Amino acid sequence: MLCLRARRQLRRARALYAAGIALVFAAGCTHKEIAPPAAARVQPAACPATAPVLAYHRVSPKITNQMTVTPALFREHMRYLARHGFSTISIDQWCNAVERGAPLPARPVIITFDDGWKDQIVYAAPILREFGFLATFYIYPTVIGSPLQLSWDDVRALAAQGHAIGSHSLSHTERLNRPYAFEDQARYERRLMREVYDSKREIEANISRPVVHFCYPYGYYNTAVMESLERAGYRTAVTVNPQVNSSATPLMTLGRRIVGPAMRDAELAEYLERLPLPVATAVPGDGMICTDRAGRVRVSLSPQGAHLVDARLKLSFRWVDSTWDPRGRTISYALPQPLEPGAYTAELHAWDARSNHYVYAWLFQQDAAARGASVAASSSRRPQ
Ligand SMILES: [Zn+2]
Repeated sequence: MLCLRARRQLRRARALYAAGIALVFAAGCTHKEIAPPAAARVQPAACPATAPVLAYHRVSPKITNQMTVTPALFREHMRYLARHGFSTISIDQWCNAVERGAPLPARPVIITFDDGWKDQIVYAAPILREFGFLATFYIYPTVIGSPLQLSWDDVRALAAQGHAIGSHSLSHTERLNRPYAFEDQARYERRLMREVYDSKREIEANISRPVVHFCYPYGYYNTAVMESLERAGYRTAVTVNPQVNSSATPLMTLGRRIVGPAMRDAELAEYLERLPLPVATAVPGDGMICTDRAGRVRVSLSPQGAHLVDARLKLSFRWVDSTWDPRGRTISYALPQPLEPGAYTAELHAWDARSNHYVYAWLFQQDAAARGASVAASSSRRPQ
């Protein structure tokens, strides 16, 4: 089923993009793919709730990386949620609330698992059952049945327990949103179609249920990917942008907080208590690929909203020396040097007088071609 709200968002995004392109170029950032400006996020509020989304990977007694939690810590998190009145909801429930005003429990939270690790059914699923919680498991078919990974029987068992199964692409590609160097555009688009369509079809064939929720590998996305997902019949997609979601958050870029082995109750609470921060425009925009030097990051907040006393910007998890203009409700940061090629998570944190914490997070990428352009530019300024 096509998501009408997402279609409206994309149509609006294209119109706003056309209007805002001059602003983007003025900021020194060009791009080769259409991306939705943050203004596209502003939608009529259909439901007043917010939905934090927790992103777990491995749940194992042996900590193997920064995305593994022990079963004891996972139980501690579930206990915290239960004691503080949270109820797990499915992503379908969130869609129904946003699109049709369907009722939600008082404190909804969405629990997700990525990458189809075997330990998710061994350790996490029994703990979820203890607390009466349900989750969404994002899997990618090329590893199903491999050592340490879920089998198709495991995936069917999770579905039978009431959990949702989503697609995490076919192969967990790090280039879902752009071609490899050896690919032309046509070849890239064929690969994109396989990742989006074939993963959906293969999972559906194995669990005999529709698959309508997607998880971007590495959190990389753009408008072209979102449109492909929509055409394939996906209803939502989740990112790793660490914000909570409101009814203004596009269903194709739902925020999540990755959970790591050191996340104790205080850090969990800090994320759960965050509030959404509506923005009017962000440059570089959400999902944009910059092919020129990005000179400045700049966000204009919606004129309506909380009275904020401070706002600060984080770029790739580090605070930067940004400038907050409370009158104009803008925050900006002049990059001291061209960004290295890669993906950048940008986070705008703001606080009101009561210390309520608001967050808007988005993703843009600096293309490898930009470094070449920057080097060429600096070379041309050398004394002759
Ligand atoms: Zn993954």
